[in-house]
Amino acid sequence: MPSVDTLKQSLIDAGKILASEGQGDLIFGHVTARLPDDAEHFLMKPHQIGLEEITADNLITVNLEGEKVAGDAPRHIEVFIHSEILRVRPDIGAVVHTHAPNAVAFSALGRPLQGIGHEGTYFHGGLPVFSETADLIIDQTRGKAVARAMADSDVLIMRNHGIVTAGRNIEEATVLALYLERACKSQLLVEACGGAKHICSHEDAVAKAGRVLPQSPRVFDYLVRRVNGEIG
Ligand SMILES: [Zn+2]
Repeated sequence: MPSVDTLKQSLIDAGKILASEGQGDLIFGHVTARLPDDAEHFLMKPHQIGLEEITADNLITVNLEGEKVAGDAPRHIEVFIHSEILRVRPDIGAVVHTHAPNAVAFSALGRPLQGIGHEGTYFHGGLPVFSETADLIIDQTRGKAVARAMADSDVLIMRNHGIVTAGRNIEEATVLALYLERACKSQLLVEACGGAKHICSHEDAVAKAGRVLPQSPRVFDYLVRRVNGEIG
């Protein structure tokens, strides 16, 4: 179990990674992680700053009602995406919500995500889509609807809005967000050329996902080195 300081650093890194991968949307989008010793509270990126501007001091602490209980910075209005998923998913320790541009564009097509490249194979069995509203998730009722739509999946596309990913930790949730965005980008490219003529078979997709998904911690570590200028 990580210390609170380690958890804060992971959230800082996650914010930088998501921003560097094009998932920052001005000051919108947020990451959260459940406190290691307190399942009823979680750390959250504050409102009014970019994903890459998270610091140990500006992170806020929120309870499962969506109420800020510590920290000076303002809370995102969409906190209920996180609080309601963390409430009903004790297996989940972290949630990412971004307005990933390729995923938003892909969501408007209303088509299933296909196994085109590696990333698409992780989601080839289908993934849930939240289509109840394209508006912001501004209260517990809408947060519960998002959590219901996500059910036991670790990823969710919010039609005409963005994505939600969840993981046992922020590293997993972040890497899933990157994979989902890349999968959507691949399919947009193919759709622009008339649609896929060949997609990954079910057997290959299962095998490939089983080989690559366990590498998520190494992928996250690599991205941390990259955003911190340790490469190149
Ligand atoms: Zn949003």
